[in-house]
Amino acid sequence: MRFRLHVSRLDDARDYSGGKRFRLAVVDLDRTKDYPLNFVCMLPLRIGSDGKEPNVFTRVFGDKSLEVAKKLLVDALEAEDDSDVKAEIEMRLKLLEPKPVCEKACVSCGKLFQAEPRKGFKQKFCPECFKKKFAGRK
Ligand SMILES: [Zn+2]
Repeated sequence: MRFRLHVSRLDDARDYSGGKRFRLAVVDLDRTKDYPLNFVCMLPLRIGSDGKEPNVFTRVFGDKSLEVAKKLLVDALEAEDDSDVKAEIEMRLKLLEPKPVCEKACVSCGKLFQAEPRKGFKQKFCPECFKKKFAGRK
C-alpha cells in the first residue's frame, strides 16, 4: 500500500469555524489515484488517544501511527509548492513532536529525573529511589 496525504483547501467553507483551512486526508495510491475513492482516513491533529477513544488513523496504523504520520507529512512537505499548505504541514509536524519531558527533583535524593508530564504529580521519587523504596517492602 502506498499512502500519501491529500490536502484539500477549505476556502469555500464559510461556516467552518476554528480557523482550519485544510483537510489532510490519507489516501492509498494502490487503490486508485482518484480522490476521494482512495480515501483511507483523515490525518488527525494528534496521534494516539490522549485518554479518549483512539481515532480512526490510530486504529488503521496501530503502533506505527506516529511513524506513518510523520512520513506522510514529510513527504507531502517535499512535494508541496504552496506556502500556505507548507505552513499547515509544518504546524502538523510540530504537533506530532513529543511533549517536552518534565524534569523533577527526587524528594529522597534530590537528583533530577525525567517525569512523564501526565503522571508528574505522582512521581516524587527518581526511578532508583522508587525501586529501593518498593523493593524494601515485603
Ligand atoms: Zn532519588
